[in-house]
Amino acid sequence: MMSDYYELLGVSRDASAEQIKKAYRRMAMKYHPDVATEAGADEKFKQIQEAYEVLSDERKRSIYDRGGDPLGGGRAGGFGPGGFGDFAGAGFDFTNLVDAMFGQQASRGPRSRVRRGQDALVRVQLELHEAAFGINKPITVETAVLCPRCQGSGSAENAKPTNCRTCHGHGEITHVQRSFLGDIRTSQTCPTCRGYGSTIPNPCGECDGDGRVRSNRSLTVKIPAGVSTGNRIHLASQGEVGPGGGPAGDLYVELIVAEHPLFRRDGDNLEMVVKVPMTAAALGTEIEVQTLDADLPETEDVARTVAVEIPAGTQSGTRIAIPGMGVPALRSNRRGELGVTLLVQTPTKLSHEQRKLLEDLANLREENNFDPHHGHKRDKGMFEKFREAFR
Ligand SMILES: [Zn+2]
Ligand SMILES: [Zn+2]
Repeated sequence: MMSDYYELLGVSRDASAEQIKKAYRRMAMKYHPDVATEAGADEKFKQIQEAYEVLSDERKRSIYDRGGDPLGGGRAGGFGPGGFGDFAGAGFDFTNLVDAMFGQQASRGPRSRVRRGQDALVRVQLELHEAAFGINKPITVETAVLCPRCQGSGSAENAKPTNCRTCHGHGEITHVQRSFLGDIRTSQTCPTCRGYGSTIPNPCGECDGDGRVRSNRSLTVKIPAGVSTGNRIHLASQGEVGPGGGPAGDLYVELIVAEHPLFRRDGDNLEMVVKVPMTAAALGTEIEVQTLDADLPETEDVARTVAVEIPAGTQSGTRIAIPGMGVPALRSNRRGELGVTLLVQTPTKLSHEQRKLLEDLANLREENNFDPHHGHKRDKGMFEKFREAFR
């Protein structure tokens, strides 16, 4: 069936493009499915759209005027997404217009009292060994929990909420206003029940009708080995209980790893600096250094120290790597290395005897008059090589 498009829009056959556009706006407002109440408005709205699609397009309008079918059987698509595309092309965005006229999308029925709770975030500080080796960490979180007195219903003595008398359970109040564009219907959230469609005449004294109360809970969080500052652990359904006792949101535990007095973490490696007397560095020795494992409880059988071989003639700043004594990589058993950087200590307070010994040593090594730019003659080869490397 092809309707009379001019009649549908209520315009004359010689109407201008501007008149057609105005007529369409007026009719579309009147028959828009969100607004119109009369039977058959839906169908009428589709026909109006179709009429506008044809009459707003010069080529289609002339086909129509000559008795042809301007939509070539594609009429059924007039209300589909393609149809809306055409209207947008005509420089008239229908959706925007409706939004502007009605302020907001028409809502559908009352909202539920029971809603999912929000996610919660807590920050937990860990010692370095806890982050490195993992731990079952007890924490305290403060979130909304189900009200113990009303079990989420919000009513005292388990009374049921009653239908709201202001909005009759719809949750919103509709005003109809007459205007030159036709009836304009506006809805607002019901102020009596705040949109729930029901009221609680006798609210629970514990939660004031919210169905939940705030409470501290103790939880144990399993911290995997190898975590770092900023890592988050996700605990499903351990967040805030929702209004009306709705399902709890999730809990995120954000980890902050404390500084360690001895170790600095560098990815999966641990770095430490140890002091070595000048004589030990010159003669060579073996030292025992503490490991991060030493921070673990005494019941655990771990290597709490590790031997570090210091070769004779070690220079200050030398780093000795001990594999497998660093931090375990997250999601793998491989441990990084422990880097031990040696700081050679020059003696500061010398007794007479010590001073004499050092002077004798200096004489023996012919170091009394050394050249700072070329080093000691015995080290010359090394020094030159060093300089070569820098060039
Ligand atoms: Zn309660
Ligand atoms: Zn109400």
